[in-house]
Amino acid sequence: MRNGEMGLGSGAGGAGSGSGSGQQGGARGPWEQALAQLDEAALAIGLEDDLREILRQPKRCLVVSVPVRMDDGSIRVFEGYRVHHNLARGPAKGGIRYHPAVTLEEVAALAMWMTWKCAVVGIPYGGAKGGVVVDPRELSRGELERLTRRYASEILPFIGPEQDIPAPDVGTDEQVMAWIMDTYSMNVGHSVPAVVTGKPVSIGGSLGRAAATARGAVYTLLAHLRAEGESPVGKTAVIQGFGNVGGWGARLLAREGFRVVAVSDSKGGVYNPSGLDPEAVLAHKREAGTVASFPGGDAVSGEELLELEADVLMPAALEGQIHEGNASKVRARVVLEGANGPTTPEADAILEERGVTVLPDILANAGGVVVSYFEWVQDLQAYFWTEEEVNQKLRRVMEGAYLDVRGRAEEKGWRFRLAAMALAVGRVAEAMRIRGLYP
Ligand code: NAD
Repeated sequence: MRNGEMGLGSGAGGAGSGSGSGQQGGARGPWEQALAQLDEAALAIGLEDDLREILRQPKRCLVVSVPVRMDDGSIRVFEGYRVHHNLARGPAKGGIRYHPAVTLEEVAALAMWMTWKCAVVGIPYGGAKGGVVVDPRELSRGELERLTRRYASEILPFIGPEQDIPAPDVGTDEQVMAWIMDTYSMNVGHSVPAVVTGKPVSIGGSLGRAAATARGAVYTLLAHLRAEGESPVGKTAVIQGFGNVGGWGARLLAREGFRVVAVSDSKGGVYNPSGLDPEAVLAHKREAGTVASFPGGDAVSGEELLELEADVLMPAALEGQIHEGNASKVRARVVLEGANGPTTPEADAILEERGVTVLPDILANAGGVVVSYFEWVQDLQAYFWTEEEVNQKLRRVMEGAYLDVRGRAEEKGWRFRLAAMALAVGRVAEAMRIRGLYP
């Protein structure tokens, strides 16, 4: 089926078609954003038109209906997706998102970004992503489990340890991964830990996986500062989003000597120029359900937070947060993309012109998939590593990838995103050429 029929055409299914992003009306949605980034990289490396055309489409998109018996006895039907973008370099890998604004085009964009992410850090996977249109906070635990098990059953023909290995993303966690692992295992009749990553350690998860995305981002930032001859101590950081990536990001940045001056979640933010204690903010969020009412600082809106004076701005929420309308107001010197697709191509150009360094998502937040890869390798071997080993290997991969990207950026005079994309697209294209076109 062609993308136009799937609503993934360059216009029809575009922005605003519901992605949870903060993009302004008329702006491009994540799928068009991903295509624009691919086109720019393809042009920069002189990619053949036919390969570019293949890469501009997802390999396959599965749309599933997920009926769930609710606690009150009624049945609600949710829509779910699983998209494989490109599998030239290995099995499909990518998270599953539960969010009310999930769309097929958003999931497809996230799958394409996974293809580049795995390539840029050199792990042997292709790109995938999944999602269900649901607000998980509105479901009871029983409803969430039934939704997850039914969604897992519906995508069962797509997934497997040698085919496609899901992981957590926005709105899903290690418990959701445990239910998917169990559902898959029950269907095949034996335990298959390697079918998902980001599982609890007790059933084959990896030590270090929970913090891995943020840890990888921090390693990338530290490698960047080192290359620039700068120290992290006393530098200020602002973080948007306080879930897995943002919450761990705040804690790990503080441990490295950064002063975390502002954080936010979907309900609002808190700002204290003298610094916030991320552990105290986390404890408050557990109690109150949000960081916004944290007493140790002043309330700040989501928009204001992005425009605060800081050395580092770490978007760690959703796509399209830094856009044409606010990019000129970003006062941070470095944007560390914990989220996927937080900066639109228009904003990217504005930030470049203003001398703001963007450490791009496909590099900066790759730590999650790198440790997911380590988890999968450990599961397949049934031999587990210490957390120290995991973190050391992660550090080596992230520093190596940063230096590769920096080298390409310096050689060509490109910004980091274009250098990372060029490296990634080049590696995927090389795999496609060597494998040849079937049949
Ligand atoms: P999560 O569900 O744990 O947390 C998301 C956070 O963003 C929550 O605190 C939520 O309140 C907040 N948020 C939502 N809308 C917001 C808004 N408009 N303003 C401010 N905050 C807002 O999700 P996560 O796993 O931390 O993922 C965050 C981002 O990182 C996503 O883009 C995801 O794709 C990306 N990512 C996650 C991983 C991973 O391993 N979890 C890996 C790579 C990339």
